[in-house]
Amino acid sequence: MCAGLHCGDDALRLLVVEDDKDLNRQIVSALEQAGYAVDSASDGEEGWFLGDTESYDAIVLDIGLPKKDGLSVLEEWRRAGRKTPVLLLTARDRWSDKVQGFDAGADDYVAKPFHMEEVLARLRALVRRAAGHASSELSCGPVRLDTRSGRVSVEGNPIRLTSHEYRLLSYMMHHSGRIVSRSELVEHLYDQDFDRDSNTVEVFVGRLRKKLGVDVIQTIRGLGYLVAAPGAASPSALPSGH
Ligand code: CA
Repeated sequence: MCAGLHCGDDALRLLVVEDDKDLNRQIVSALEQAGYAVDSASDGEEGWFLGDTESYDAIVLDIGLPKKDGLSVLEEWRRAGRKTPVLLLTARDRWSDKVQGFDAGADDYVAKPFHMEEVLARLRALVRRAAGHASSELSCGPVRLDTRSGRVSVEGNPIRLTSHEYRLLSYMMHHSGRIVSRSELVEHLYDQDFDRDSNTVEVFVGRLRKKLGVDVIQTIRGLGYLVAAPGAASPSALPSGH
């Protein structure tokens, strides 16, 4: 239970495509409790559409779906160049499902019935790998973010963040070394029902800077924000305002 606080979410916005209503609800609520923003679909067509038009950090996709089966959905996304990491749910531990799944472009799978913890762990690993990080700890200058525990510290001192602040920082640190636009942040931070006003991003960045006490997030005027890649000069050592 997280009661509004982040805990160990290292992806940000996820999609769950599963036609079994109870299972869909269980997965969605487990992911929400882990601090993710989650959208869900209950058939292949709706799932395909959401995955094609929205920005997710990872997708949980059942193979056996009405209207369009999971493997076709996945193949279409891949053919259209969508690289979002996909975790397949297979009905049984059938090797042919696995082989076909990987051929269709799946990144990983779990066989039903599964433990929710395994789904969470596999999703964390997928998102980390997609962003090119081998370790579960990300760092930028004095700031450390542990994607497993959801803990953030500055020079070893723990910092308490809200789930929105954590998601923003986590996304920026997953994509350190490149400029991230405000609209990209809005797309990756909020589920469909959230009021997506890009000014809120600015507010969260302001709060993060205050809480972290260092300007780890640089504003690149007209383009967005940048968190320096690990190994780059410490942000506190960068000239500011000159
Ligand atoms: Ca199914």
